[in-house]
Amino acid sequence: MATLPSYIVGNWKMNGSAADVVVLQAIADAAAAHPDIEIGICPPATLIGSFAAAAGAVRIGAQDCHARASGAHTGNLSAAMIREAGATYSIIGHSERRADQGETDADVAAKAEALHAAGMGAILCVGETLDERDSGNAIAIVTAQLSASLPASASGDWLSVAYEPVWAIGTGRVPVSEDIAAMHAALRATLIEKLGEAGNGVRILYGGSVNPGNAAEILGIADVGGALVGGASLKAETFLPIIEAAP
Ligand code: PGA
Repeated sequence: MATLPSYIVGNWKMNGSAADVVVLQAIADAAAAHPDIEIGICPPATLIGSFAAAAGAVRIGAQDCHARASGAHTGNLSAAMIREAGATYSIIGHSERRADQGETDADVAAKAEALHAAGMGAILCVGETLDERDSGNAIAIVTAQLSASLPASASGDWLSVAYEPVWAIGTGRVPVSEDIAAMHAALRATLIEKLGEAGNGVRILYGGSVNPGNAAEILGIADVGGALVGGASLKAETFLPIIEAAP
């Protein structure tokens, strides 16, 4: 398997304001110093345009996009709209949207298709709840979620997958390394089963309470191709050490 550069992406969720461009500038300085690592920030949609103008080598992404190209969808943004604003990819299927907006696997697959059709990348999120982890069936549940969320056109490096256990997001709790390794191996097998050889070209990120203290261990686990970072991406002093920890 060709080794792709580590991919470290900050998901700002519903946080940040225009003044936080100074945080982005510090991250852009780190990106210039680490051309071997791909670095992304997904700010709220209102900041995509101004952040894209100041991003340097930092890849600016959206946190969601609608599956349709246009139409009567009040409050939503199409892939072409976020692309025009300056985003080159979007997170899709984050567990907060699956829970808050009732997004299904089929919705997520349609969003991925829309992004691909617009020439954009996608970070497709999957992960189990605590009940699902405790049931002992987490691997079967999450690989089924990935299979059902994968777009028909999936192939190549426009797609990344993020494994984010719901119970690890914003809680300070992280699975043991063996469990992360087992899940990533199972997700890789699913990608190859669905996509053939192209499944090897999809990076699988880990997300959920990544911080400066645990980043080196998590990023060193087999087939962890990077991290999707929430809370710790909001400040340069906690995001930069995660970038530094990338292999
Ligand atoms: P967290 O969020 O790093 O704050 O746990 C990660 C995510 O939800 O992407």
